[in-house]
Amino acid sequence: MNLERWRADNNRVEGWRDSLEIEIQESSESRRRRLERGELLLPSIEERFERREIEGKTVLELLSRGLDSKATRLFRGRISLTVRCRKRGHILAHVYPTSLRPIVVPRVAGVNPEHKEGRFKNVDALKEWRVNPAAYEALRLRDPWITESTDWEFYERLCETFKGETGRRLAYLKATYFDLQGMAILEPRLRQKVVTVEGVRYEPYWSWLCRCGEHRYPCYRLMAALDEGVPQDFAG
Ligand SMILES: [Zn+2]
Repeated sequence: MNLERWRADNNRVEGWRDSLEIEIQESSESRRRRLERGELLLPSIEERFERREIEGKTVLELLSRGLDSKATRLFRGRISLTVRCRKRGHILAHVYPTSLRPIVVPRVAGVNPEHKEGRFKNVDALKEWRVNPAAYEALRLRDPWITESTDWEFYERLCETFKGETGRRLAYLKATYFDLQGMAILEPRLRQKVVTVEGVRYEPYWSWLCRCGEHRYPCYRLMAALDEGVPQDFAG
């Protein structure tokens, strides 16, 4: 386990956690003030705010675990399910329980879109791997997993409002967006094997990557494995 990489990832986890805490606190504060003033929003907007808050709290619970320093890209504590590739047993994703809903976290989030080289344009991981396994290895290494992007102009403006060292940290957190592509909060609707959207039927699946290439894993199978309490499943 590369300690430097662990520190970098864990720093992002901590930043994300702090930024979510601020966001959740501000959103529940503003809702409280709205209710005090007797202001009512459209129910659909209110619902969206509530959903966003619950999602935030679920992710926050996972982030609060911190990363395991002895394994790669693994949060500390209990895991409900591990999905591996059938061929070589590489870990594709982990499912973590929370007090709200379970969360699935892929081990490889994808390709960093900031790499502009032509050969990485419009990559279909599987095709790329078949044609050139060496290039695929390079892609895998470029996977940023947790991404952070800071709006530095916005940060500068916030710095003028929040003075001092602590204020700079706050401005940074408020101007930074964290993400982990492919991380998903598991909803009961994912148990549906077939979904029809605008007349088109499709079977929802996740597409996960490992050194062997891309694997498709149906969402309903993940939900079934969780319902059955199976600790491990294989994709591909
Ligand atoms: Zn594999």
